[in-house]
Amino acid sequence: MNALRVELEVGESCDGSTLTVKGLLLKGGEGPVVALTSSVHGVEVNGFEVMRRLYNRVRREGKLKGSLLLLPMVNPWAVAARSVATPFDSVNLNRVFPGRPTGTLSERVAHAVSRALREFDVDYLVDFHGGGYCCESTPHGAAVDVGDSRALAGAVELAKYMGFRYLAVLRRAELEEELRLKATLDSSAMRMGIPSIIADFGSWGYQLGYVKEAVGGLLNVLRHLGALQGEAEEHGDPIIVERVWVRTNSGGMFYPRAKLLSQVDEGDLLGVVVNPFFEVVEEVKAPCSGVVLLMRNYPPTLSGEEAAMIGRRAEAQTSS
Ligand SMILES: [Zn+2]
Repeated sequence: MNALRVELEVGESCDGSTLTVKGLLLKGGEGPVVALTSSVHGVEVNGFEVMRRLYNRVRREGKLKGSLLLLPMVNPWAVAARSVATPFDSVNLNRVFPGRPTGTLSERVAHAVSRALREFDVDYLVDFHGGGYCCESTPHGAAVDVGDSRALAGAVELAKYMGFRYLAVLRRAELEEELRLKATLDSSAMRMGIPSIIADFGSWGYQLGYVKEAVGGLLNVLRHLGALQGEAEEHGDPIIVERVWVRTNSGGMFYPRAKLLSQVDEGDLLGVVVNPFFEVVEEVKAPCSGVVLLMRNYPPTLSGEEAAMIGRRAEAQTSS
């Protein structure tokens, strides 16, 4: 196996030094090219550790039949600033794909990554995200239906062989989701015909249990795609859900009352907000039935922050 250092040039810093996004290209054989990306949001870093472990494993065993493009720190500036957004332009990088070569720093990063997907002939993409510094996600996949049924079927396969029980598919929706539909790395790759999913799990820092699961899932995906020698393990199809975000109205300290992966009905209590007089000022309730895929785990909240995210069954949506 051949490991090549990749440095995608993005622009220049104030002192004229070159700003780059760094990674590795692992070349095995003629099999498919799979790209893994992480830390598009600077507070979601589990993907770095997933890729480090995968790299060591693949290097040790030498069974690579395809190629792997590993970009474990797509947004190093946001990582350094412990921030979701890119510091210099205050832009959420996952809202500006495929980017512009003449745009702000974030747009240039998006452009450089999009160009790399094309230049390295990437066939599949898994982009790692998580709940960040204030929430925890239970492992699940997310994909955007951009109208390419072949790419969507490929994304469902990725989620299935990753071992995800739930895949949130964005088909239509609210303004926030509309923006996401247009401009995320995964949706942009889907528009290029590359089956792509977000692998969403964990919280601030590393959660090694989730990391281990994800490495196992990726090895299985790579075997299934023919990028790695060996037999893939079969899993059931993921349950397709729609992401429903639940936000606090009141400011205060948030106390979760529902567990990740629990099934809730409309009106069930998800958590409460307590003010500095120690009064419960809000009961945050489930707006629909579904499974709890994300919960706030950082208590301080102000109006409009994420309290939870429910995966609503896609079938239920058509009857409403
Ligand atoms: Zn993210």
